[in-house]
Amino acid sequence: MEKLLLFDIDGTLMEESPTHTYSFNYVCEKIYGVKTDIESFPRHGMTDTGILYGLLKKQNIPEIAIKKKINEAFRAMEEYVSTNIKPADYALLNNADHVLKTLKEKKYVLGILTGNIQPVATIRIKKAGIEKYFATGGYGSDDIIRSKLVDYAMERYGKSIQKSGIYLIGDTPLDIKAAREASVNAIGVATGMYDTNDLKSADLVIENLKDENKLLEYLKN
Ligand SMILES: [Mg+2]
Repeated sequence: MEKLLLFDIDGTLMEESPTHTYSFNYVCEKIYGVKTDIESFPRHGMTDTGILYGLLKKQNIPEIAIKKKINEAFRAMEEYVSTNIKPADYALLNNADHVLKTLKEKKYVLGILTGNIQPVATIRIKKAGIEKYFATGGYGSDDIIRSKLVDYAMERYGKSIQKSGIYLIGDTPLDIKAAREASVNAIGVATGMYDTNDLKSADLVIENLKDENKLLEYLKN
């Protein structure tokens, strides 16, 4: 059976991107005319669409007004990140490149499942040199709800894969929740702000991507 592994980016494959993080404040001011404070907003594991709605609603911007300009906001975010991107925005976590290479050699199908909007995810994985590993992706510009990104990743892949052969790999309880809602497998990696205990409801939890053998052993079954 073909197996599809969908990787989260921030806290799983890479460090969080400072430029992407800051771009929320830039976009909210430029497109919606309000000052926001992304640093104090609990955002880990959320989609970019969800973060924008959360930040802007706190500033009393009505949902309808947010929605109206959301594509403009995505374009401003893309422009900001592509103009200001620096190595810290695509710093791979230890062993990420090696794990992807090994999995690809073992014929697993790899994809991205990230809250980042598609152009931001794409520029980061290209800069990190890992774009070649991925056959598909679901992104934070596709939908506000993370679990729905699985459907987008499957649709972009173009071939049907059984849900039991799909694995979401992420660093937050929200990644696990998304996997449950989408009826796919959940793998937790404790390299973000959550430890193995916080992620214990996943089907497999690893400390970091150096636990390659544990991951490969689990995927064999
Ligand atoms: Mg993450």
